[in-house]
Amino acid sequence: MTATIGVDIGGTSVRAGVVDGYGTVLDTARAPTPTGEAALEEAIASVVGTLCERHKISAVGLAVAGFVAKDRRSVMFAPHLAWRHAPVADRIADDIGLPVVLEHDANAALLAEYRFGAARGAKVAVLVAIGTGIGGALLLGGTPFRGAYGVAPELGHLTLVPGGRPCSCGKSGCWERYCSGTALSASAVELLARHPGRSTVLAREASGDSRAITGRKVAAAARDGDPLAQLAMADLASWLGEGLALIADVYDPEIVVIAGGVSESAPLFLDDARDHYKAAITGAGYRPLARIRTAQLGDDAGLVGAATLAADYQR
Ligand SMILES: [Zn+2]
Repeated sequence: MTATIGVDIGGTSVRAGVVDGYGTVLDTARAPTPTGEAALEEAIASVVGTLCERHKISAVGLAVAGFVAKDRRSVMFAPHLAWRHAPVADRIADDIGLPVVLEHDANAALLAEYRFGAARGAKVAVLVAIGTGIGGALLLGGTPFRGAYGVAPELGHLTLVPGGRPCSCGKSGCWERYCSGTALSASAVELLARHPGRSTVLAREASGDSRAITGRKVAAAARDGDPLAQLAMADLASWLGEGLALIADVYDPEIVVIAGGVSESAPLFLDDARDHYKAAITGAGYRPLARIRTAQLGDDAGLVGAATLAADYQR
């Protein structure tokens, strides 16, 4: 059996991996993400070309952080990439001479978790990827649910707090403004203004510029026992629980996989989030609850999922 290549195309880097039928990543190549459309496609063709020299490859899957058209041939919109209504799959297929299929990165990651990881075999599975924002995916019987036009489910911009923190999407009070790496940083800055002197670690970080308090630094401080960072983490946990309860009310999933960079700090918030989720769900105590687990494939999930789709696509 020949292998396929999965490419995870993010705002900062293009990561490609050769993947076998068991979801094992055999080899990788990466390049920084260029800003222009042509340069981006050249960078993808180049990392794929490097891997094709070393392995026999039958097809390529691209996982894109953006809206992928329902036929999976073009990218409609990607906030951090150059593509706007771009027929990416055909252009890259022409360039590299192999079949190419596109997928939304969260769908690809959930598909990988369904085949090989935390959501194995779940009939209704949801992925919540918590990083800078929130990425979401819903898998029904192993197939991504895309909605009528390919953009579902956009979980990060559900309004949880009417009139709340402003969001880059133009609305305010979106879930990801309260439950993300960016949210951890915003909560820590707010808490520090309200309780000056409560956290010497974060106050030192913020001296001169509060933007120095990144979500990653808040998580590290919480891990070290800093009380203010732990309050910020508790706030994230409560909003995660609230959001998960909404998702469970709408989808009634068997499993919710928590992925993304923030999930690496799951021991600091996940039990707390589960308690909020159990308390906030409709009919609590009288219905089976979705299991909430952290992702197993880590950073590789997107490219493994894309490679798996490519293997299915060529058949
Ligand atoms: Zn928003």
